[in-house]
Amino acid sequence: MIAARPDVALMDGYHSPQLDVRVRLNTNESPETPPAGWTDALAEAMRSIDWNRYPDREALKLRTAIGGLHGVGPEQIFVANGSNEVLQTVMLTFGGPGRTAAVWEPTYALHSHIARITGTGVIEGERADDFSTDLGEVARVIAAARPEVSFLCSPNNPTGVVDDESVVRETLSMVEGVDGLLVVDEAYGQFAPWSATGLIADDVPIVVTRTFSKTWSMAAARLGYLIGPSWLVAELDKVVLPYHLDAFKQLAGTLALDHVEAMNERVQRLVAERSRLVGRLEELDLEVWPSGANFVLFRPRSKPGAEVWQQLVDRSVLVRNCSSWPRLEGCLRVTIGTTDEDDTFLAALEEVIA
Ligand SMILES: *Cc1c(COP(=O)(O)O)cnc(C)c1O
Repeated sequence: MIAARPDVALMDGYHSPQLDVRVRLNTNESPETPPAGWTDALAEAMRSIDWNRYPDREALKLRTAIGGLHGVGPEQIFVANGSNEVLQTVMLTFGGPGRTAAVWEPTYALHSHIARITGTGVIEGERADDFSTDLGEVARVIAAARPEVSFLCSPNNPTGVVDDESVVRETLSMVEGVDGLLVVDEAYGQFAPWSATGLIADDVPIVVTRTFSKTWSMAAARLGYLIGPSWLVAELDKVVLPYHLDAFKQLAGTLALDHVEAMNERVQRLVAERSRLVGRLEELDLEVWPSGANFVLFRPRSKPGAEVWQQLVDRSVLVRNCSSWPRLEGCLRVTIGTTDEDDTFLAALEEVIA
């Protein structure tokens, strides 16, 4: 019988259990549904789709609308089915056998996973003790491996740390020094005080990835994009499958951009709720890390994290169990939910760790 490619057979895959619970705070989705105006407009516009025809292969309307949001033209925008597919296309184009991608752990597990799936070698550096990006370590890794692709994640998942602009700039100049590409994953960019999108130019090897899954309340739509040099976007377009973005999704994304203000209000609400939640967590017997995203990393002191996780599940509250991840021993990550959801989580947590 056929076996999977040996390196794939050894892989672990991506696990985030989708359990049937009352309060789901494990995958950093928005707790709010999209604006009703968007849902109505989409239902109406759906009638006009030419279902017997392939969709616009270039997704030009959508890319123009997204470009408008960032002050660039459609030629600087690449769209795909979630930012994970954007990252996969980047790796298919710039990674591959004989090439290397650099990550600094702990960070988003999919960066190294997608790199490996595409046959790219992975070199793992370490973040500093407080999980910030350590420029000395960045320099060491880049000099040692001369990676084709280097990943930063800001705000970083699962720690919530935001890289300073000087850190991204210095990393970028090191990446330029080895003719590499810097990917800045800003899945949570709207929650952070600054964005690396300001560094993008046609002669600079940087791309910034964004998603509709988190701030835009549209995780079900599977839509993500990158902003980068136009020559680079043209290379990605050669690699991605033809007509990869269906007509319905193109409409959904384009119409969403009529609701930027509602989205910004959601971000403001979540940021306010984040400081309330962090304040409450800091009163408990926990180690809590500061976050620039819509989630918070914490470590219970009185009990092993895995036990706390299970006892929260028993109370119908699901958070992310990071307790077995290197350097995150005993840690859990909670997504900011509605006030009600967060209160339910806090009450359950207080009971469990008492
Ligand atoms: C959630 C997440 C993504 C993936 O988003 P999709 O657009 O849903 O594929 C990418 N990067 C980071 C850091 C994330 O946390």
